Amino acid sequence: MPEFPADFLAAQLRAAAVKVTRPRLRVLAVLSRATAPLTHAELEERLVLSAEGGIDRVTLYRVLDSLVDCALARRTVDGRGVYRFLLSSVQAAHAAHAHFHCQRCGGVTCLEQMAAPVAALPAGFVARQVEIEVRGLCAGCSPTAGGAR
Ligand SMILES: [Zn+2]
Ligand SMILES: [Zn+2]
Repeated sequence: MPEFPADFLAAQLRAAAVKVTRPRLRVLAVLSRATAPLTHAELEERLVLSAEGGIDRVTLYRVLDSLVDCALARRTVDGRGVYRFLLSSVQAAHAAHAHFHCQRCGGVTCLEQMAAPVAALPAGFVARQVEIEVRGLCAGCSPTAGGAR
């Protein structure tokens, strides 16, 4: 994922009619670098590791709600029922292929070789989103794949 300059992220917020605030910019920056949807905990972790340090949890939740409300980010639920967040622009790139959701660790893996099919729809229907999701156990969690556990 390319690193988006702060100006670009601020412009995205303005275009979405959302006030540009430091926490919003920081959460957007973390999401824009993510290659898979992130949970609250993963977002908190990455913010803590960044130069400016962590954001309190209430602020993080509010920021995520506002980003989802203005459609800059999307909220999905993984195989364990945990919310995960990703940018809509990133999601568009991921919409071209399938994803594997591990039901034990909650990990999401891109299945880039598995291209999403073009939806064949009846007349008058408009596809907005196609998601191909495979659920099961990842290599680390599967007992048959020689996983460490
Ligand atoms: Zn797993
Ligand atoms: Zn993907």
